[in-house]
Amino acid sequence: MKPVIPFVPEANSHEQEVWQRDLAKALEAFAHVKHVSDLTDEDRLNAKVAIVANPNPADVAALPNLVWVQSLWAGVERLMTELPAGGPLIVRLADPQMAETMSEAVVAWTLYLHRDMPRYMMQQRQAVWQEHFLKTPAERTIGVLGLGNLGSASAQRLVANGFKVLGWSRSEKNLDGIECFGGPEGLTRVLEQSDILVVLTPLTTETRGMLGAAAFQKCKRGAALINFARGPIVDTGALLAALDQGHLSHAVLDVFDEEPLPTQSPLWHHDKITVLPHISAPTITSTASKIVADHIHQYLTEGAIPHHVDRNRGY
Ligand code: NAP
Repeated sequence: MKPVIPFVPEANSHEQEVWQRDLAKALEAFAHVKHVSDLTDEDRLNAKVAIVANPNPADVAALPNLVWVQSLWAGVERLMTELPAGGPLIVRLADPQMAETMSEAVVAWTLYLHRDMPRYMMQQRQAVWQEHFLKTPAERTIGVLGLGNLGSASAQRLVANGFKVLGWSRSEKNLDGIECFGGPEGLTRVLEQSDILVVLTPLTTETRGMLGAAAFQKCKRGAALINFARGPIVDTGALLAALDQGHLSHAVLDVFDEEPLPTQSPLWHHDKITVLPHISAPTITSTASKIVADHIHQYLTEGAIPHHVDRNRGY
């Protein structure tokens, strides 16, 4: 009989049916994917691995013999805080398709800023016909904070589009065509030189509030920010102050302290802020399901647990 793999999605998520269908199909040759609400007591006791997506922690705790969980998201900040430290290992989703999707978004919104689109949209609203001086991509320095799966693919795609690219990560990297930095001093160097900053670090105790008043002071006057990682990495009050003082020129925000962004938030109507509803790199169910299936197949046949989150490091 095929082993049962519990699927523990976020309650009321409208996407769970699509996931359940694609996961069941990807695993059908060797396992039976069962929604958490359909599990028997025996299924719960036997489960060594589960597939989770923003699960209710109580649903995970009700699987007492879990060794690891496969998250369907790349960011696992919430799981890290909600699952106990001695609990199952957490494997996050690293999908090459997601890196493609994210790097496409990074290029799209970098071009939006590079070609002054917010300013021209504003001019249209005011019926103003005015041309502004155009820089070439080579004259624009883009700083990418975080050079993991998503950041390194994005940085490389920016280089391919002709931009000068600086990268920053915890351990210093060596990437073709990208000047790489590490550590707090490295961050200062990147902030000081970048015309556009792209945030792609995970949210950890070290990165929470990392971009606040002190960091913005180090930025070039007129620099712009793209946050595609997690809202709390940026101090919203300090960002609003830097935009209102004209120190920063624009921010493209896809992620927020509270999501959905509350309707009363001042960010919605700020002239220098572009609000996106967390859409820069959605998980693609078909490709992600195949990766999840490979991980679980390797575990069932060889006992191999995929690369998992380091709780001390926080990602
Ligand atoms: P990843 O592969 O774990 O890469 C994280 C990168 O950040 C690494 O380069 C890491 O440095 C660096 N980093 C972590 N902590 C740091 C610190 N304290 N100082 C300097 N650098 C630090 O993660 P990923 O898959 O690229 O994803 C990044 C984040 O994107 C996720 O955590 C998630 O929050 C976000 N995300 C957003 C969306 C969206 O739609 N908006 C979609 C997917 C993911 P090392 O290389 O030295 O370890």
